[in-house]
Amino acid sequence: MDVQHDSHYDVAIVGYGPVGQALSTLLGRAGHRVVAIERWPDFYPMPRAVHFDHEVARILQHLGLRPDNSDAIEPYDAMYAWRNADREDLMLVDWSGVGPTGWHTANFFAQPMFEPQLDELARNQPTTSLLRGWEVVDIEQPAEESSEPVRLTLAGSDGTKHNGERRRLSADYVIGADGANSFVRRTMGAEWKDLGFYFDWLIVDLVLHEQQVFDPPAWQLCDPARPTTIVPGGPGRRRWEFMRLPNETIADLNQLDRAWQLLQPWGVRPDNATMERHTVYTFQAKWSEQWRSGRLMIAGDAAHLMPPFAGQGMCAGLRDAMNLAWKLDLVLRGKADETILDSYGPERTPHVRAFIDFSIALGRLICITDPAEAAARDARMIADRKDPNVTPEPAPSPRLGPGVQRSGDPLAGTMSIQPRVTGATNAGLLDDVVGPGILLTTAESALDDRRRKALNDVGITVVALGDAPGDGVVVDDTAAYTTWLASHGAAAILIRPDFAIFGSVSDPADVCDLVDDYLTQLGQTLATQVPVVAG
Ligand SMILES: Cc1cc2nc3c(=O)[nH]c(=O)nc-3n(C[C@H](O)[C@H](O)[C@H](O)COP(=O)(O)OP(=O)(O)OC[C@H]3O[C@@H](n4cnc5c(N)ncnc54)[C@H](O)[C@@H]3O)c2cc1C
Repeated sequence: MDVQHDSHYDVAIVGYGPVGQALSTLLGRAGHRVVAIERWPDFYPMPRAVHFDHEVARILQHLGLRPDNSDAIEPYDAMYAWRNADREDLMLVDWSGVGPTGWHTANFFAQPMFEPQLDELARNQPTTSLLRGWEVVDIEQPAEESSEPVRLTLAGSDGTKHNGERRRLSADYVIGADGANSFVRRTMGAEWKDLGFYFDWLIVDLVLHEQQVFDPPAWQLCDPARPTTIVPGGPGRRRWEFMRLPNETIADLNQLDRAWQLLQPWGVRPDNATMERHTVYTFQAKWSEQWRSGRLMIAGDAAHLMPPFAGQGMCAGLRDAMNLAWKLDLVLRGKADETILDSYGPERTPHVRAFIDFSIALGRLICITDPAEAAARDARMIADRKDPNVTPEPAPSPRLGPGVQRSGDPLAGTMSIQPRVTGATNAGLLDDVVGPGILLTTAESALDDRRRKALNDVGITVVALGDAPGDGVVVDDTAAYTTWLASHGAAAILIRPDFAIFGSVSDPADVCDLVDDYLTQLGQTLATQVPVVAG
């Protein structure tokens, strides 16, 4: 779609990496006029993310990029091993099988193939426009309470046909999905909280000419002589990561010849492999202390950075996109008060913090170059392995921080599961049959029509578990929902459109109260059925 100068949009998304692409799809699909602005004329060419977890697989399912139907993605079904220089196992993390969302616990992907697939989903939205080759260089935010839009100035990027040009556009809201050096974050005046974790690693992506078996396919070599990561890089691809040693410079390491030299002990050479990309990254651990300022918000690397040892940076960004998109959608449609946007940062910060801490803990195990320190670590971890009480978790499952949740509810802010169900017209994973945003009850609920309609208006479908599928009734194919609800003593559970649980009730008679609480927190008034108008 051609974009006119001085156009106005509901939302301007600055930056079109995976998080900007996901937001463009989510908000475009909700019918909002969205413009995404990206300074590069094409996709970012350097190696980055290769792994995502089962919860992010569910987000991709929701976006329309099914992990079981993409040639950019392969599920993982093995241990993730941590070994010392003598190749002894220090830790085995079970990444096999399927997680509670119905998708594989771990998945590997090739970002250069994955991003065009996300991009296609965004481009398919008739109300979403993409401006490539333009950099946002100025943002004027209107005074608080003003109904004026945010005004953005764009400069044509060097080396593109727009070089030297300027254009202006306006938007009701601006989301900075503009990466680590986010211009939007700096415009907001938000400060980084920096944990001071800095390590340089050379990252190398390869296509091997002949397939080789790697057992396990993903592992960390905790060798103080050269800490190394060896993982899949998506279908047909492999990734090696080599830590910079104290006696090396970044310039020493960031050389094509050096990359091949480091790969030699692994039997990987130019005659049996093609190197797609290599570069040195400085891993960092930071998060922004503020995620929203008036009409400006940030998401993804603009809001947080973590070392990639748990493969969770982009995952966190896609979780941001899910959290923000449904709230902003309701605000733009006049179905929720603008104040629900205040819950975005407080909900996401403790969650992302848990993954930053986890990534650092893993990093502290591998980024050791002192032989004595490494020997002490090895002894400690081998002893832990023999301790039946120590079972390494695949990843943390933190709850959201305080926000749009039922107060005092033990399930509030945790993630819902997604087993298979059979509905009136189809069977499959719950979101495929019903869609996200659900009030799930164990028996047909006595909700009045006004509450049902009010829930519908804010994107929540009422569904009961039953013996036979029907209108508003699904069969719990594997009894997983029944078991899950029973384990929490819950008779009904309200799942937000981002799969997070708003709250639950143990007595079916309290379901109206649960619904009223939700609507009140959105700023809706059931009594009058008059939606709050966006501020
Ligand atoms: C070596 C490495 C390995 C990693 N491995 C994993 C992994 O396995 N799993 C995982 O989940 N994560 C991983 N990550 C993290 C992951 O790559 C990032 O978290 C993710 O790419 C961030 O996406 P984003 O959309 O927030 O930002 P980006 O992808 O950085 O996109 C931001 C975009 O904004 C654009 N931009 C910036 N400023 C402007 C402006 N003023 N105007 C217009 N455009 C602008 C930039 O050009 C860029 O395209 C890894 C990272 C690294 C470095």
